Amino acid sequence: MQTVCCVCQKTKSQSGWIQKQPRKETRVSHGYCPDCFHSTMERAQGWLLAQNAGQTGIMALGR
Ligand SMILES: [Zn+2]
Repeated sequence: MQTVCCVCQKTKSQSGWIQKQPRKETRVSHGYCPDCFHSTMERAQGWLLAQNAGQTGIMALGR
């Protein structure tokens, strides 16, 4: 079974992550390559920070 990055579609191979479409008959599992994992985590953190900032803003307005 091959692992394909669901963001950049890179395929995990023995030599690392390469830009290559898996063969049709190959069973694939979707995941994240290290690059996209990092950028996704950074985006998630930014989103969480924005959420916290928004909540603080609403609380400040309520007072
Ligand atoms: Zn990727």
